Amino acid sequence: MSVITKSFSLKTKGDTDIIDITGQVINALKEARLSNGIVTVFVPGSTAGITTTEYEPGMLKDLPDLFEKLIPKDDSYHHNLTWGDGNGYAHVRVALVKSFFTVPFVDGEMILGTWQQIILIDFDNRRRQRQIVVQMIGE
Ligand code: ZN
Repeated sequence: MSVITKSFSLKTKGDTDIIDITGQVINALKEARLSNGIVTVFVPGSTAGITTTEYEPGMLKDLPDLFEKLIPKDDSYHHNLTWGDGNGYAHVRVALVKSFFTVPFVDGEMILGTWQQIILIDFDNRRRQRQIVVQMIGE
């Protein structure tokens, strides 16, 4: 049993920017040279989340539309009164999406559906540089 931790970074535009990171996770898994186990993808920070969807143009509109309905950017948030940073909506959205996604891998490949991509969603109200951690536990 081994634990191998890798990471990569990317730039985001913020404002519910959705980025397909499946390829980077596949690369990390290949470099780890493990056959069977689980991989956890994690983003440090309290305004970006990781989840899954079919990464296609319609969904890139549907997801931001849903978040705007559920947790509108311009609502009043106690967080904004506390810090004045205006991204209270981003922290609330991340609490629902979560900061990590875990996938089993078998024979060196993640068991993802054909149309199932791993996505980073950056909700912050400004551009960000994000470090993504990929930790594999297996053999
Ligand atoms: Zn904040």
